[in-house]
Amino acid sequence: MKMRYELRQRGRGLRKCRICGGSRAVIRSYKLYICRRCFRENAHNLGFDKLS
Ligand SMILES: [Zn+2]
Repeated sequence: MKMRYELRQRGRGLRKCRICGGSRAVIRSYKLYICRRCFRENAHNLGFDKLS
């Protein structure tokens, strides 16, 4: 669902969360491209449970 929305904003969608599609506080540091909220929810899946 969110994927189509991203495609419509290719130019500005570089920093969008790939999970929820949000553009708030998206973490790019580890090439995660996910927002802080999704990061916390998926940290254990990504192997970042140490940072939570
Ligand atoms: Zn997100």
